[in-house]
Amino acid sequence: LNRHLASQPVTIFTVMSELARQHDAINLGQGFPDTEGPQDMVQVAANALLDGRNQYAPLTGLPELRQAVADASLRFQGIAVSADSEVVVTSGATEALAASFMALLEPGDEVVLMEPLYDTYLPIIRQLGAVPQLVRLEAPDWALPRQALEAAFGPRTKAIVLNTPMNPTGKVFTAEELDFIASLLRRHDAYAICDEVYEHLVFGQTHVSLMTLPDMRERCIRIGSAGKSFSLTGWKVGYVTACAALASVIAKAHQNLVFATAPNLQRAVAFGLAKDQAYFGALATDMARKKDILSNGLTRAGFGVLPCNGSYFVMADISALANGLDDVAFARQLTEQARVTPIPASAFYDSQSGTPPKNLVRFAFCKREEVLIEAVSRIERWK
Ligand code: PMP
Ligand code: GLN
Repeated sequence: LNRHLASQPVTIFTVMSELARQHDAINLGQGFPDTEGPQDMVQVAANALLDGRNQYAPLTGLPELRQAVADASLRFQGIAVSADSEVVVTSGATEALAASFMALLEPGDEVVLMEPLYDTYLPIIRQLGAVPQLVRLEAPDWALPRQALEAAFGPRTKAIVLNTPMNPTGKVFTAEELDFIASLLRRHDAYAICDEVYEHLVFGQTHVSLMTLPDMRERCIRIGSAGKSFSLTGWKVGYVTACAALASVIAKAHQNLVFATAPNLQRAVAFGLAKDQAYFGALATDMARKKDILSNGLTRAGFGVLPCNGSYFVMADISALANGLDDVAFARQLTEQARVTPIPASAFYDSQSGTPPKNLVRFAFCKREEVLIEAVSRIERWK
């Protein structure tokens, strides 16, 4: 058996969702909306099935979706992209990440990552024989620790993983922070895997792709997800944008992993990406309102709620409520007794190095407002 996989625990999202089900709790753990995505997109997908769009799609994606990704890239980030040679459609951003790591990394290569981090990066990097170099961001503002980041780069550095807007912190990297990261990439001749699945879920700040900075066009692999941009997480349609030299190797990884993504869903996502600014603006405005409802409610209930500028998630300090319990025990207790489920934030730290903070949990606010209000009142009643 492969020791990396065999020793990997079941993902915290599955563990907490199962616990929520057992206790009939409101699941603010795993990040998925509790409403359907745009009905017109669902209709396009359904029509495509009935139209006989049921055989393999082209390996790198339907031409209409690759074109829609290229158009959106120009429209939202000003990045001109060739739909033919610089876009690869994948089965979710999860596959896009794995394919990007496979395309870039050889055993012994080092990858710089920032903790807390999304849970699929490290296992794949390690399985490829590459070596993570972790840099920790600190609550409450998660500012980029420039010295530590600089020190994490060295002669073996192949790439950095940059997730902005960031899961689980809700941080949106500032222009100055992106400039600093770009300077390190130039100096060390390194790449960036840019996980931008929450690109349209930004509140009061602007999302800037690292790829738009000087000299970054050929160094960045930019990853998006229809799951997040259209509240259709179950569809698992993702897309990669990268220069042709990188995209062609990512396509080889995709060829071995999945080969092709469901054609009816691709057609519907192409339709969705052509939506006007009103759609994308409303998505962010709606999500910002949900963030405020949950953040204000959790603050009233006694949590130390941290600022959040993007994503589906808000982090909360449990110290005033936990009676000395750590985040894992507290998340379990909140599920069993208050019947509200968060994710213990220690799950977003490398289990193989260092001690994670034990005073933070992550709540997802991508839920209907009445659900968020009920979750807060359950916590108030339980306290
Ligand atoms: N990256 C981040 C930061 C995420 O939060 C997620 C989804 N939860 C993914 C990647 C994976 O996206 P997808 O569902 O499209 O595979
Ligand atoms: N990205 C979602 C989250 O962070 C969950 C994805 C998953 O369950 N794999 O909660």
